[in-house]
Amino acid sequence: MTDCIFCRIIDGSIPCSKVYEDEWVFAFKDIQPKAEVHVLVIPKLHIERLDHLDSSHAELITHMMLILPELAKSQGLDNGFRTIINTGPGGGQEVGHLHIHLLGGSNLPGFH
Ligand code: 5GP
Ligand code: ZN
Repeated sequence: MTDCIFCRIIDGSIPCSKVYEDEWVFAFKDIQPKAEVHVLVIPKLHIERLDHLDSSHAELITHMMLILPELAKSQGLDNGFRTIINTGPGGGQEVGHLHIHLLGGSNLPGFH
């Protein structure tokens, strides 16, 4: 069994509030939301972090980018949204499975 919590969310062995799923991508609500809407968008393929991507992942990454606006709309974020990718300890990444934070709505933290 994998010890990656996001792989275990994908395979259903850890419960989550699922927002979207297709052949390549899985999206679910963050357990500790930092804004009214806080969704994590992850590839089904276990890729640890952004700087582990290579050109073989081009189609997957294009797909992830293109579904973000659709997901935002499905969450009621008609006025815009924020996306964040933390990479490595220096970037504040805590879970070692690539994920895009999709944030929006009220309580969206500002950058100071
Ligand atoms: P990171 O700091 O790695 O960019 O973000 C990891 C995110 O995953 C955090 O916002 C954290 O709240 C979320 N998270 C960690 N464990 C779980 C979990 O078991 N379920 C869900 N839904 N979110 C999680
Ligand atoms: Zn994983």
